[in-house]
Amino acid sequence: MASLDAVMDSKDRSKAEPAAKPQAAGVGTGTLAVHAGEARQKGGDAVTDAIYCTSTYTFTDTQSVIDFIEQGHAREEYGRYGNPGEKVVEKKLAALEGAESAVLFSSGMAALVGVLMAKLGQGDNVVFTDECYHRSRQFCREHLSRFGVETITVKTGDYDAVQAAITPSTRMLISESPTNPHQSCIDLEKFAEIGRKNGVETLIDATLATPYNLRPIEAGVDYVLHSCTKYLGGHNDLLAGSVAGSEDQLAQVRELRGIMGAINQPHAMYLLQRGLKTFELRMQRHNENGLAVARFLEEHPRVEKVYYPGLESHRDHAQAKKYMRGFGGLVTFLVKDADWRATADVVDRSKLCRIAPSLGGVESLIEQPLVMSYYQRTPEERKAFGIPDNMIRLACGIEDSADLIADLEQALRA
Ligand SMILES: *Cc1c(COP(=O)(O)O)cnc(C)c1O
Repeated sequence: MASLDAVMDSKDRSKAEPAAKPQAAGVGTGTLAVHAGEARQKGGDAVTDAIYCTSTYTFTDTQSVIDFIEQGHAREEYGRYGNPGEKVVEKKLAALEGAESAVLFSSGMAALVGVLMAKLGQGDNVVFTDECYHRSRQFCREHLSRFGVETITVKTGDYDAVQAAITPSTRMLISESPTNPHQSCIDLEKFAEIGRKNGVETLIDATLATPYNLRPIEAGVDYVLHSCTKYLGGHNDLLAGSVAGSEDQLAQVRELRGIMGAINQPHAMYLLQRGLKTFELRMQRHNENGLAVARFLEEHPRVEKVYYPGLESHRDHAQAKKYMRGFGGLVTFLVKDADWRATADVVDRSKLCRIAPSLGGVESLIEQPLVMSYYQRTPEERKAFGIPDNMIRLACGIEDSADLIADLEQALRA
């Protein structure tokens, strides 16, 4: 078990560039969220990190350029290859995840596209579970296919189907846990084991869970992907994405990012670092609110069904209990005997929850998947995705649960 010394950079970095530090185990999430990846003594002797608004970095003379190239000194070179703030956040995310390394991208989708483009080539295939984020599936179906990469889709939670789908050309198994919006939970050890047995890398998009609630790396999964836009940033004020894993396995991903340029602006990295400081506190509140709201909705006469992994009634509750510390702030539910318009009325009557896509921020957000994400799909397609007209997705923020419940109570009054 590493100590705090392994997490914090104890050298005086006020005059030098930060250096990579190993991840920590044995230090609490709250402490890691505040301190991991950060220098103890910073530029200007400030307690917070500076935002370096610069596109490029200067060298003192030609010899220092040559030394940098020949000896690979840890310093910045050009903004597309990263910036000091981003490196701090990458180290913090790796520490939170219990991973060796993390690579930040400009959005969750940029991270997913980056991993797939770095890892897959012509003739390869990738196995996806069917409840994955619709844009992830769209990228595979419409774009990866153009490069001769085949996508095989299997039913979420069907491990025999995952095993059966693997061919000698399979390079990666990808799933989400919990999935969005049905909140199916994966048996991570089983998933990782199938990958290992077949020599295929595994990736879990754990955006809905976060490293506070789910530990895919500890369960043997190779890569963990997050849309940092959600809980990690936590304030509905930035877009970013990350993928964590081993240094070796991520080397190609990091290199491709430097070429494709899906990097983060220094201001966004400052916001993400600041958001992460309160990560544990926010997650505890999201978990409390999610569970309280899910329990309230489950008892409500106008609610047909609630999808929340913390409820005993959820199909994957046993899986969720085995792997999750809490169950997050996202609650999906069906309004009883309601057509799409009566369901929209419930959304429109909410006074506290704002109508918007996304989740994981301090403000509660509400949406009807039929309208927000699947409006242009045919009824048959929506049925295939499992999106009924009377479905509502509520992303609980960190308000008081009593106020959220009171708001839903009045919104559900017909
Ligand atoms: C939002 C989301 C993404 C995409 O992330 P962006 O930051 O919006 O690009 C991917 N996966 C899941 C599970 C998400 O919720």
